[in-house]
Amino acid sequence: MAISPFSFFINSRSAVFTTSLLQHMIFKLNYDFQISTDLYHLHFEEGREPHATIKRTPESAIVYMPKGFRFEGAASLEWANKVLATALRNNAQVILTQRLRNIATTHNIQFNRLTIKDVSTRWGSCSSLRNVNLSLWLLLLPSHLIDYVIAHELCHLKELNHSPAFWAELDKLCGGTGSAKRLDKELGTLERAIMAQRIK
Ligand SMILES: [Zn+2]
Repeated sequence: MAISPFSFFINSRSAVFTTSLLQHMIFKLNYDFQISTDLYHLHFEEGREPHATIKRTPESAIVYMPKGFRFEGAASLEWANKVLATALRNNAQVILTQRLRNIATTHNIQFNRLTIKDVSTRWGSCSSLRNVNLSLWLLLLPSHLIDYVIAHELCHLKELNHSPAFWAELDKLCGGTGSAKRLDKELGTLERAIMAQRIK
């Protein structure tokens, strides 16, 4: 079945989110909420236990909420978002580590350590110690944009700026001249679609 990588953001009215003061992603979750990309699938179900449980495969997660749980009230929503982040974290660790290793190996770029973080202010970052940080929320993106973010950070290990040399280097990792800026624009469009759904 063909699943539009953007269906999650564009079509799902339930997927409204805002960014809390703690800079964690806060979605207005409910039982219709789902993540459905070419790479990853997650949805909620009401479980039979008095606590939340997560059933996981390498590419998916079903989050079983406690029996009788309703996504109502700020405290419930905040807690449900923590459960969601927990579900994403374990999948993100495996998926993002594998994709980072593949891209780094293919292009012969050495990195030190990968850390998966629960941050929504940026998709990724890197340090002069050659450590790469990636947001667990990258699992909301289709695979080609995840790879773009990873390539972008790996390229910063060579060029710690956004100079023409940086973009030329990034083009090499992204499929040729002009491809990096094109992917960056696509990512920006998706981000704006997300921002348009923020709770005011
Ligand atoms: Zn950058």
